[in-house]
Amino acid sequence: MIKSDDVIYMDNNATTMVAPEVVETMMPYFSELYGNPSSMHTFGGQVGKEVATARQRVAELLCADPSEIIFTSCGTESDSTAILSALQAQSDKRHIVTTRVEHPAVKNLCESLDSLTGHKHRVTQLHVESDGTIDLKRFEDSLQDDTAIVSVMWANNETGVIFPVEEMAEIAKSRGILFHTDAVQAVGKIPIDLSKATGIDFLSLSGHKLHAPKGVGVLYVRKGTPYAPFVIGGHQEHGRRGGTENVTSIIGLGKACELATRHIKKENTTVRALRDKLENGLLKTIPNAILNGHKTQRLPNTANISFEYVEGEAILLHMDRFNICASSGSACTSGSLEPSHVLRAMGVPFTAAHGSIRFSLSVYNNEDEIDFVLEKMPGIIANLREMSPFWHNR
Ligand code: PLP
Repeated sequence: MIKSDDVIYMDNNATTMVAPEVVETMMPYFSELYGNPSSMHTFGGQVGKEVATARQRVAELLCADPSEIIFTSCGTESDSTAILSALQAQSDKRHIVTTRVEHPAVKNLCESLDSLTGHKHRVTQLHVESDGTIDLKRFEDSLQDDTAIVSVMWANNETGVIFPVEEMAEIAKSRGILFHTDAVQAVGKIPIDLSKATGIDFLSLSGHKLHAPKGVGVLYVRKGTPYAPFVIGGHQEHGRRGGTENVTSIIGLGKACELATRHIKKENTTVRALRDKLENGLLKTIPNAILNGHKTQRLPNTANISFEYVEGEAILLHMDRFNICASSGSACTSGSLEPSHVLRAMGVPFTAAHGSIRFSLSVYNNEDEIDFVLEKMPGIIANLREMSPFWHNR
């Protein structure tokens, strides 16, 4: 039963609740265990041990080696580090391949490279199909002799569409090109095995997307990959990222990764079933509702649905009256009335792109919440359409 003050949180691609077990694991490191992990004394050393455990837990989730894990401040820093590092390490190569649907952490960085590095770069932003997927042949054709790095997200934050990054990375590897994947939305939701996906050189993840706190991330760097630090300072992270470690959050992230390793099956069974019930229910009961993104090649938690002829922002405001949290476009692009660059790249018509809502679930959602949303949404959309001249003149 949903009570009037319950928050129905379906915006997990924007950020997630910190898991209670994660909070509990972090607490002692705010108070009694406040030592610096780099200190020589035992007091600091025990914190250092916990950071090592966290590194081990992250590595296990990714099937990687702990030495390949660098803690950063967020997904954005990890993305910047990977791309700038690849360019710095191969200064003779000036071409980058990415997609038109990347998160601004990659998209805007690639668009500002010339001013950041003082060199001219050519950036190929690959087109996507109308269902958000990518054409592998077009990708292969885009690679050039001086391509320094390919940066392609594992899963899209707005539509949940999954790209075949393992295959793409193999292709890049066969051409001697470094491969980075922004896996911020994929980690914890779909299995990732970097011991098999050997073409992937760099991978970014972010704590707050998998029930750890905000302000902590990871950059995975495969052993042997040329690397230049982005944050230059002390010897922390073996000289690969300066700055005293965000110990509490790192320890929290380690715990969250341990939970994610345990929950990955649930994501693909329980969460997927809830998402499918929500998605099918909305598409069935609301006329002119369209799913954005490939039907199956998609994260199990995400449904991006356009309600034609109404404004996404207006829908969100009406949902908010029932404490239902979702997004229109990504959290970073909402706030502007421009339709999202992702939906535009997919060629979603104007009347649909403006009315798109992203529902993103987690293991903390339940069936009562889905039923509640399915009960409220048809009325919200019908009321807004009643006031919409676009709906009446369609
Ligand atoms: N990449 C993707 C795909 C994202 O969804 C996000 C956040 O929304 C980021 C990168 C940025 O991560 P952070 O907020 O940790 O900087």
